[in-house]
Amino acid sequence: MTPTNSANRTERACEVMIVGGGPTGLFLATLLADLGVDVLVLERRAAPSAHSRAIGLHPPAVAALHEVGVADAAVAAGARIRGGSARSRGRELGRLSFERAWPRRPFVLSLPQSRTEELLEERLIELAPAALRRGWEVTELRATLHGVEVTAQPDLGADPDAGPLMVRARVVVGADGARSRVRDLLGVGTTGAQYPDTYLMGDFAAPDAAGADRDAVIHLEPGGVVESFPLPGGGNRWVAHTGPAPPSAASLDDLAEIVRTRTGVRLEAASATMISAFTVRRRTARALVTGRCVLIGDAAHEISPIGGQGITLGWLDALDLAPLLQQAAENRQHGSLRSHPAWQRFERACRSRARIARLLAHANMALGRPLPVPLAVARDVAVRVALGTPARRVMAWAYSMGWAR
Ligand SMILES: Cc1cc2nc3c(=O)[nH]c(=O)nc-3n(C[C@H](O)[C@H](O)[C@H](O)COP(=O)(O)OP(=O)(O)OC[C@H]3O[C@@H](n4cnc5c(N)ncnc54)[C@H](O)[C@@H]3O)c2cc1C
Repeated sequence: MTPTNSANRTERACEVMIVGGGPTGLFLATLLADLGVDVLVLERRAAPSAHSRAIGLHPPAVAALHEVGVADAAVAAGARIRGGSARSRGRELGRLSFERAWPRRPFVLSLPQSRTEELLEERLIELAPAALRRGWEVTELRATLHGVEVTAQPDLGADPDAGPLMVRARVVVGADGARSRVRDLLGVGTTGAQYPDTYLMGDFAAPDAAGADRDAVIHLEPGGVVESFPLPGGGNRWVAHTGPAPPSAASLDDLAEIVRTRTGVRLEAASATMISAFTVRRRTARALVTGRCVLIGDAAHEISPIGGQGITLGWLDALDLAPLLQQAAENRQHGSLRSHPAWQRFERACRSRARIARLLAHANMALGRPLPVPLAVARDVAVRVALGTPARRVMAWAYSMGWAR
């Protein structure tokens, strides 16, 4: 929070400054640029990430992409997951379809996060060519009478002589992810917990006709859940529960072996393009609006990736936030944003969506934990019954975030 004095520092002013050019920051910037708001995004990575990371975009996320004009390109580039089936010990327990919950867009779109970010970045550059600046890490924030002064340090690998950048903004948005620096600089604490679950995740070329179908398949096995999601281009993402302690290393052979022993599906490790191991945490910021700074996306609420709701939540935050930022820019409002009822409503709406998503992710993880065979048999019966009754429609609505419309 201390001011920087440097001979070669560059100064700039803008109405809204977004820290972080991940999916949430890029989406909000594109919305604002479309509304004519003077927006600047500082992203610490000098180049886009190639890691596929998130692949699931729920129907509200596809609707959000319509708002910025990239839904058609995203749908053309992605794979449509029209439903999901649950299997256990070699038998299908039942299937659910997204058609009733989403008659117009009856699918969850599978698209690697790297491609989603690329589409958003292209659109942002079309609307506001200078809005995204890569290779700048925000390190300081200072509240002023009319807004916030932000200091960012350059990526010295790209330009060893570059000095810091100082930006004066009316409002600063922290869209800088789960380990948010903005949140720390504001002194905003978090609540949350680590879950006793770890997973291995890998992207493989489709091994056979069954692997190439366009439904998600959830194998509820006694040894722990194995999930398979179609990828654009015919392959599948496989995710397997690996118990309470993370494996010492993420190995393709280990994942292929877990999938084979639990489900009988043989994966070719040589066909894989990605492997990673992850642990699971939930974390929520104690305040989303502080002074003239706002937190959204994972910076505001990190939830378990099981269920794939994180990007959708961040974009719904951004859709609610963009008109408030436009008004703040147009009306030249001063003072703390929190004192305005509209900003309090915004915070309540974000928190309430994140709470529902967190509960669903929690239920999803609990369903997929390892169980002794007698309890796994009881679980199979309960799932078969639920998927054989109209309750499956409620499940399809809940899994595809129908509640977030
Ligand atoms: C294994 C895994 C699988 C997942 N699968 C799904 C899925 O299928 N569907 C789904 O919806 N979600 C999924 N998620 C969650 C999803 O990836 C996140 O919810 C999403 O990336 C959050 O986006 P964000 O923009 O808020 O944060 P991030 O993606 O973390 O982006 C933050 C950006 O801010 C930048 N940054 C950080 N600090 C600074 C700084 N000081 N200055 C400048 N820039 C900074 C970072 O470089 C980064 O680019 C998954 C997550 C994991 C880990």
